[in-house]
Amino acid sequence: MKDIIQLKDRRFKVMITAEEIDRAVQTVAEQINRDYADCETPIFLGVLNGSFMFLSDLIKKIEFENEISFVKLASYEGTASTGNVKNIIGLNGSVEGRHIIIVEDIVDTGKSMAHMVEELKEHNPASVEICTLFFKPNSYQGSANIKYHAMDIGNEFIVGYGLDYDQVGRSLKDIYVVTE
Ligand code: 5GP
Ligand code: MG
Repeated sequence: MKDIIQLKDRRFKVMITAEEIDRAVQTVAEQINRDYADCETPIFLGVLNGSFMFLSDLIKKIEFENEISFVKLASYEGTASTGNVKNIIGLNGSVEGRHIIIVEDIVDTGKSMAHMVEELKEHNPASVEICTLFFKPNSYQGSANIKYHAMDIGNEFIVGYGLDYDQVGRSLKDIYVVTE
């Protein structure tokens, strides 16, 4: 592991190691295993691109029968009054009556998740919960309960383990933070 790396115009240093991430993923998987033991075939709904590595590691630790699906949140320019609205794309198959666990890389202001939960609820699922690897509690402005958050961090910008800086850095197995 290199302590300092260069991605495009920025330098980043190691903040969280792969081993620490693995322990946090294990803890959250155990919580989910307890909570969903009696639910019929929940669906893990990964939000692309950032969640691919987290979902892949999380699901190997899940002990109940499950389905896996992925969606993308596509931004389109709304009018000045509506701002930047995000819609779910790739939701195929019915989620009606199903237990949904949204799997996200990071929840920052919570705007993306608020839109996602709102749109999913229109399809009448049995339940919707959010499972995020990283959570920025000081930045969060949403009202939805973030039931599963593996690690809480400050407002710093991080990359690695699925998270990108201008599309690069997603393949790093440790988490890096931008240096000044
Ligand atoms: P929110 O809607 O919660 O403000 O933003 C969530 C999205 O912003 C995440 O899914 C991610 O794409 C991006 N994001 C927020 N904080 C970070 C960060 O520290 N690093 C990276 N790479 N992306 C972030
Ligand atoms: Mg994301």
